[in-house]
Amino acid sequence: MGRKPGPRKSEVNRHGLSRDIPADRALRVRRECGFGCVLCGKSVVHYDHFNPEFKDATDHDPAGIALLCGGCHDEKSRKYLSTATIAGARLNPLCKRTGFSWKKLGLQGEPIVDLGGAQFRRSPIQIAGRRLLEVKPGEEPGVPFRLSALFTNAVGHEVLRIEDNIWKASTGSWDVACEGGRISIRSGLSDYCLILRAMPPEGVKVERLDMRLGDYHVQCPDEETFLLLHQGRVIIDARYGVFDGVELIFD
Ligand SMILES: [Zn+2]
Repeated sequence: MGRKPGPRKSEVNRHGLSRDIPADRALRVRRECGFGCVLCGKSVVHYDHFNPEFKDATDHDPAGIALLCGGCHDEKSRKYLSTATIAGARLNPLCKRTGFSWKKLGLQGEPIVDLGGAQFRRSPIQIAGRRLLEVKPGEEPGVPFRLSALFTNAVGHEVLRIEDNIWKASTGSWDVACEGGRISIRSGLSDYCLILRAMPPEGVKVERLDMRLGDYHVQCPDEETFLLLHQGRVIIDARYGVFDGVELIFD
C-alpha cells in the first residue's frame, strides 16, 4: 500500500490522539524504564508506543510505552527487533538492572568543565575525600582525554558520575530527563539537583547544581555562579573565574 507524500508526521492519529504525552504519564514511563532505553540503557530516548502502536492508540497508557534510543528505535522500524522483545525489556529494563542510564560524551582534546560561572581546565577537584573532577590523558596517543566527575544531590546521594567520558545517571533519582543536549536531574517537582549540558567537542557545562559531599555544599544556582560552602560558610564564590592547572583539595 503506497503512501501519499504529505506532512511528515501528523500531530494526531486517526483516533484524534495527540503525540504529546501528558507530563505525569511521561514521568511514570521514565521512572518505570529507569530513565534510559529499555534495551541498551542510553539516556537520549524517544517514547515508543509499542502496545498498541501510536497509530492505533486511543490513549497514552504508560504500560504500552517504552523508552527507546534512536538506534534501538531504528532497529524496531527496520524490523530487526520484535515488539515482544521490547515488551519483555519494558518489564525488566536494562537501567533497572545496572542502576544507571548512560551516554558517551563526544569529547576531543583536553576537556573544559564549566561549573556555573567557573571554568576548569586541567584542574582536578577533590572534596571530602571524593574526586569531584578529574582529567586523565588518553590511554595512547591520538585518543581523547578521559574526563571523570561525580555529582550528588543536596543530601549526598549520587545522581550522576562521568567515567572516562561516559555519563552514568543513577536510576534512584526522582526524575532524569534528556532534552536539548542537556540531562536534567530532579529531586522533586521543581527541585533540580543537576542540569548538565553536553558541549561537544570541548567538554560539559553544569548549568545548575545543588550537591553535598560531607560537610561541603557545591552549588551552581544559575549559569553564572559557582559556590563552595563548608558548614554553611562560603569558601569559594566564583563568577566568570578560570581555574587552569590548579588542584583544589578540600578534605
Ligand atoms: Zn537503545
